Amino acid sequence: MKIFCIGRNYANHAKEMNSEVPTTPLFFMKPDTAILRPGMPFFYPEFSKDIHFECELVVKINRVGKNIAEKFAHKYYDEIGLGIDFTARDLQKICKEKGHPWEVAKAFEGSAPISKDFISKSELDLENLTFSLQQNGNIVQEGTTADMIFSIDQLIAHLSKYMTLKKGDLIYTGTPEGVGPIAIGDELKGFIGEREMFVVKVK
Ligand code: MG
Repeated sequence: MKIFCIGRNYANHAKEMNSEVPTTPLFFMKPDTAILRPGMPFFYPEFSKDIHFECELVVKINRVGKNIAEKFAHKYYDEIGLGIDFTARDLQKICKEKGHPWEVAKAFEGSAPISKDFISKSELDLENLTFSLQQNGNIVQEGTTADMIFSIDQLIAHLSKYMTLKKGDLIYTGTPEGVGPIAIGDELKGFIGEREMFVVKVK
């Protein structure tokens, strides 16, 4: 199973990171060991002092495909979940400065919490699907697919040019603005609309 993560897919997040808005989708990957299973705590790693949350809608691929045309991309997923792309911002900053790969900052153990449930897209308005993250009861991130730079279908078309997509692959579709640091003791709760999707405790 592959985990794709899209970078800078919301203009206001690109702005808060002082990054340019991309003209084609940016992506990187995490290994399957990055998945933090639902209900499990996240253990703050000793190699970073600045782990940030990035709450993201997650698309689950439902069949094998490559070179998928955008107009057919909707046939390759049925369900949407919610996750976090945990990022060691201090290590990422060094990677960016030195032009090094990002895995050390993005692909570590437990860096990809995922919701237990995925919601059938037939129940959702994919044009304006809202989601949010609460940190200790305070809303810290709110997003909507209406603000995505690249739609889910465009992302699937792009990724499948480079790699065969397989059933069960996940696409973390990028984070809206409001990313910030976590601390030991935090409780992170993610919502699609009003529906609670996950709770992650930081230990
Ligand atoms: Mg991200």
